[in-house]
Amino acid sequence: MADALFDAVPATSKGTIRLVHLYPKEMSIYGDLGNTRCLQKRIEWHGYTAEVIRHAPGNPFPEAGHLFIGGGGQDSGQARVVADLERNADTLRSLAAAGTPMLMICGMYQLFGNAFVTVEGKALPGLGILDVTTQGGAKRMIGPVVLDTVVGKVVGYENHSGATTLAAGQEPFGRVVRGYGNNGEDGTEGARTGNVIGSYLHGPILPANPALADLLIGLAAARATGRPFEPETIADAVADEARNRQVRRLLGSAG
Ligand code: GLN
Repeated sequence: MADALFDAVPATSKGTIRLVHLYPKEMSIYGDLGNTRCLQKRIEWHGYTAEVIRHAPGNPFPEAGHLFIGGGGQDSGQARVVADLERNADTLRSLAAAGTPMLMICGMYQLFGNAFVTVEGKALPGLGILDVTTQGGAKRMIGPVVLDTVVGKVVGYENHSGATTLAAGQEPFGRVVRGYGNNGEDGTEGARTGNVIGSYLHGPILPANPALADLLIGLAAARATGRPFEPETIADAVADEARNRQVRRLLGSAG
C-alpha cells in the first residue's frame, strides 16, 4: 500500500543538510540517539537529503555542518569529551555566533556553559556559548517535565544531579510548568542564545516535540541552501496526542 508520508516527498532533493551528532558513543543516554533519528527522518520527509556525521573525539571536526546536536552522559563520559571540545572550541563558538542551529541536551548542555563542577569538586571547563554554570550535587532531579517555550508546550524527562544557574541576561529555553528544570528553584529550564539551545530534556525530546525539531531543521535548511525553508506537511497526530496526554496527565486535568 502506498505510504502517504513518502508520497509527499518530491523525487528531487531540495538540498543536503549536514547533521552533526557530537560524541554519540560518549554522550547519548536515555534515548537521546532518537533525536538524531528524528532529525534525519524529518529532513527527508521535508524533501531534503540528510547527511549524518557522527563526530568522535580526535576526528577532524566537521565544521561544514549545518545542524549540531549532543546528548546526555555520565560525568565520566563528559570527562572523555572535554579535551576534544576544548580543541574545537573556537570553531564551535564561531559556528554558534554565525547562527548555526545547535541542540545540546543535559551533559552536553552543561559543557556548552561556562563550567560543570562535579559533585567531587572537579571542574570541567565549558565552551561558554551559553552563559550558565553547573554545580553537581547530591540530589538527583528526576521525572517528567512540561515546559512553556517559544514553540508552545514541550514535554520530556529529566535526570540530572547538576544544578544549573543562568547568568544575568541569559535567556532560558523554557519556563517550568512541571518538573525541576535547571535547578529546581528558579522556574527556568535550559538556555537559549541565538540559535543554540541547551536543555535537560530527554525523552528523547525531538520525536515528542516535532515543532522543536522543525524549528532546528528550518534554520539548518536556510543555512544549507541559502533559501527559506520549504517544509512539507508531516503527519504528527501520534506525537501530538502523546505530548498532549503527558501535559494533561501532569497538569492533572481529565484526559
Ligand atoms: N553529569 C550530569 C548530571 O548528572 C549529566 C547527566 C546527564 O547527562 N543525564 O548532572
